[in-house]
Parts: sequence; structure tokens; C-alpha cells
Amino acid sequence: MPSITVVGSVNRDLVLTVEDLPRPGETVLARGFVEGVGGKGANQAVAAARLGSQVRLVARVGADGEPIRRVLAAEGVDLDAVLTAPDARTGIASVVVDRAGENTIVVNPGANAVLSVEDLPQWLARTPGEVVLVQHEVAADVVEAAVLRAREQGGTVVLNPAPARPVAPAALAAVDVLVPNLGELAALLGAEPVSGLAAARALLERAGLPCGAVVVTLGADGALIKQPGRPAVHLPAPVVDAVDTVGAGDTFCGALADALARGADLPAAAARAVRAASLAVTGLGAQSSMPYPAQLDTVP
Ligand code: ATP
Repeated sequence: MPSITVVGSVNRDLVLTVEDLPRPGETVLARGFVEGVGGKGANQAVAAARLGSQVRLVARVGADGEPIRRVLAAEGVDLDAVLTAPDARTGIASVVVDRAGENTIVVNPGANAVLSVEDLPQWLARTPGEVVLVQHEVAADVVEAAVLRAREQGGTVVLNPAPARPVAPAALAAVDVLVPNLGELAALLGAEPVSGLAAARALLERAGLPCGAVVVTLGADGALIKQPGRPAVHLPAPVVDAVDTVGAGDTFCGALADALARGADLPAAAARAVRAASLAVTGLGAQSSMPYPAQLDTVP
């Protein structure tokens, strides 16, 4: 069975739907409310587990984390390395979504901020080539230590540098596949934000980031892959009826890790991730719309 370790965040997502986002000082009534499990670490773990990988999550939840453990366990995610921070609450993301799908999000990192380098298990990649997937919703020193340890153990290291913040040069050099969106790519390069496929390609060709390959996600434009010494390759996204893009990037990363863990080469893995992420935008919520393998076969 393909095997993946995810090091990252776990949140309670509190999602309120409103007509219009409140302005400063304004109170508005919600039209609906749902609570779910989120956080980039948990989301990416679930996305990969749904596609059949054996996924171990390394994370921290708070003393209130039992219901979240139950949800993740039901998804088949191995929680042996999910620790409880007794004095902290599980991270919370308060999400407000308006009728046009525009959102504002406030995150209280809670127990995610308590995850420390000492909490990382000795094993991250148990066998050479095993995929280790890390994001930026935990402390920078934890990200760096995880990336370096995974690399030492011969793992395939995938870093989703979201949200944007600098990456230590030694850690960047240990990354096999970097998966930023366009804003995160520009931030990493210290460039002005750009939009559109042509600008993304120009930025990527110019980039010369000191890591392995780069896969840039481009929303409805799909993704661009840049492997060292080769021109960037565009993978268009299938045209879908997009309902809610929350979790698209996490589905992409989880599906990419799943395909790499199965031995797919990067272009094939990224193509599968594009298909998986396009399905994730056709339903409401992050985890609820993450696809199962049979659904992937329905996408051209
Ligand atoms: P988010 O933070 O909303 O999860 P992101 O900024 O990390 O997203 P995006 O580049 O917006 O990531 O989306 C990730 C992937 O999801 C894209 O590469 C694409 O494959 C797919 N995707 C996103 N939006 C659409 C869309 N409207 N139609 C088809 N596919 C989409």
C-alpha cells in the first residue's frame, strides 16, 4: 500500500454563510452554519487516504480534540503521532462565506502552535522513497526539521508553502517537490504578485528556486510543472461547475502525494492531482468534496 506521512495542522472549521460579508463594526445574521474538520495537515491527509494511501498524521490537537480524532480515524488516517496539547484548544478556523463564494477566514492556531521539533517522531519516511508532505500551518522550525529529517531518511519530500512565508535555504534545498499557488510562488521569489498563465510561466522559468521540481497551482487554469533543466509544462484543469474552491489546494497536494507514493512520475502525479482537485471544487466544504478513486475515473 502506498505510504505517506503528513506533518501539519488540524483545525475545527466553523463555517458561517451570510448574504454579504460584514463590514468593520457591522453585525450580520448568518444563513447557515456547519462545523467540520479542517487545517491543511488534516485536509491533505484525508485527501490522500480517500485515494487509498496509508496516511500517518503528525500533529497536535487540544484537550477538546476527541471528536476530531474520531472523524480522522473514520477516514482511515493513522493518528498514533497525533499528540494532545493538554493546555491548548484545537486550532479553530472561523470562516465566513458570502453568497458569491467570497470568504474571510480568521484562524486561531491553538494546539498547532504547540507542535514542536521534539514532537516529530524519529521515523518520517520509514522506507526510502516514502512521501513526506508538509505545509506552513505549523512553526517554521518544525517545518524545517521535518523536511531535513525526511530527506535524510531518503523520503520524497513535498512542501506546500502555504500560507506564504520564507523557507530556510537548507530546507528548500531538501525539498523534492514544492507546491505553491501563484501568490505563494511570487512571495517566495520576492516578486510582485502576478496573475494568469503567461505571467506564471514567465515567473517560473525565471525563478531558479534552489529545490527539486516546482508545481504551481493556478486555480481554474490548472497547474504548471517545472522540473530542473526542462521547460515548464502546463496541465489545464477540466472545465467544471465550481461551487466552492475551499480545499482545492489541499486536495491537489494530497492527491499528488498519493500518486507519487504509488510510483507515478511527477507529470502523471500532477495530472491526477489536477483531476482530483477539479472534483473538489464541485461540492461545498473542504473534506466533504474530496474524491474517491472511482470518481477520478469520471474526469477526462
Ligand atoms: P485553496 O486555498 O482555495 O484551497 P489554492 O490557492 O491552494 O486553493 P488553487 O490553485 O486555487 O489552490 O487550486 C488548486 C487546484 O484546484 C488547481 O490547480 C486546479 O487543479 C483545481 N481548481 C481550482 N479551481 C478550479 C476551478 N474553478 N475549476 C477547475 N479546477 C480548479
